[in-house]
Amino acid sequence: MTAADLGVMGGTFDPIHLGHLAVAEEAREVLGLDRILFVPASQPPHKPAGEVTPIEHRLAMVELAIADNPAFELSRVEVDRPGPSFTVDTVERLAATGDRLTVILSAETFAELPTWHEPERLFEAARVAVAPRWGYPAPDPEWLAEAFPGREILVSYLEGPRLGVSSTALRARVAAGRSIRYLVPAPVEAYIAAHHLYAPMTSLARRPASP
Ligand code: ATP
Repeated sequence: MTAADLGVMGGTFDPIHLGHLAVAEEAREVLGLDRILFVPASQPPHKPAGEVTPIEHRLAMVELAIADNPAFELSRVEVDRPGPSFTVDTVERLAATGDRLTVILSAETFAELPTWHEPERLFEAARVAVAPRWGYPAPDPEWLAEAFPGREILVSYLEGPRLGVSSTALRARVAAGRSIRYLVPAPVEAYIAAHHLYAPMTSLARRPASP
């Protein structure tokens, strides 16, 4: 089998939203990638346990969100391993198949790269695509040249899209009883409602009592 060009979109996806999907599609098109792997984190290293929705729900929502795009694929590589995963370890595992990888990061995640676990190893296994994110400073190529000299050639900058959607804001909207229609794919919206995700106990209490 010939090697493929794969994009790697890691995240908590709590929940997955149109910002994630639009960035993935932009990277696929602009960089000519064959497929995009969505890699949900089982327990993100930077978020305390218990604060994140159980992985079964986050996996189900990613599956629903990408079902209509044959170039999008769910990867369970982080889920099927016990404990938190470092992105560099995940990328090295994925690269072991011989495929060429491009890790897709938004500008704010990219700016945190030097604080990651062994970030230099990332550039040994993959290229990086940086997407702008509404509300955050633009990616800075000069900063990259200082932080990771010689690696500039491995980094591409996407021009868009700039959708001001975040999982945090979506969770807050649901908790406040507000609509998330048009901010997540319709099947994800339906899943969140059916499983009462992100709704506080008070919103359950507010429902009319059964006769
Ligand atoms: P939270 O608000 O819970 O931190 P999030 O919306 O940032 O979540 P993650 O699952 O943590 O979502 O994001 C995965 C990756 O997608 C990260 O690199 C993140 O910066 C990026 N990302 C998320 N939303 C957007 C967006 N609207 N535009 C560009 N990049 C985004």
